[in-house]
Amino acid sequence: MFIEYYDISVPLQPETLVYPGDLPFRRRCSCDMEHGDAYRLSELSLSAHSGTHLDAPSHFISDGRNIAEIPVERFILPALVHQTDTEQEIGAEELESLSLKPGKALLFKTRNSTSGLVRKGPFREKFVSLGISGAEFCVERKLSLVGIDYLSIESGQDESYPVHHLLLANNILILEGIDLANVPPGKFTLICFPLKISGAEASPVRAVLVR
Ligand SMILES: [Zn+2]
Repeated sequence: MFIEYYDISVPLQPETLVYPGDLPFRRRCSCDMEHGDAYRLSELSLSAHSGTHLDAPSHFISDGRNIAEIPVERFILPALVHQTDTEQEIGAEELESLSLKPGKALLFKTRNSTSGLVRKGPFREKFVSLGISGAEFCVERKLSLVGIDYLSIESGQDESYPVHHLLLANNILILEGIDLANVPPGKFTLICFPLKISGAEASPVRAVLVR
């Protein structure tokens, strides 16, 4: 049987997008053969939201589950990649016709990745995001995870972050910073394991689609 794998993670490197005010990703070699050491060793400094990452409910919900408390079966899911030409907010009306069973993952392929915006900084204030009616649709359909191809799923215009609140309060994980430029729309299995960082509200992931 022929299996297709799509790595939808962005590389962690100096050019990686950084959310305004967040810590940029940095890797420094504390040991290196080129400096006479016996081995190479990297020191990392990063945010829990660097590059492709998962938001856990505790990101916005004070008594919500943190990333280490989420059962591992939530990280392997049947997924639908939905491609949209929307230039600003994805609303419920364009999602109504999608066939989505409870427990699925819905990933949005937008011009954020087809135009390359997600692959490197600087962070743009204007990107395609999920609107509140689109988030309500995801809650009604009882999805397990929602993903988008930019560093945030919601535009920063409303500082009460209603989309994050609504999804996370309903136990829907948020996968941000995926690169879907080379992925055709359709059905896949999504695999995206976070690091088991005790107490953390998010973690970088290696996200892969398989079919
Ligand atoms: Zn995040």
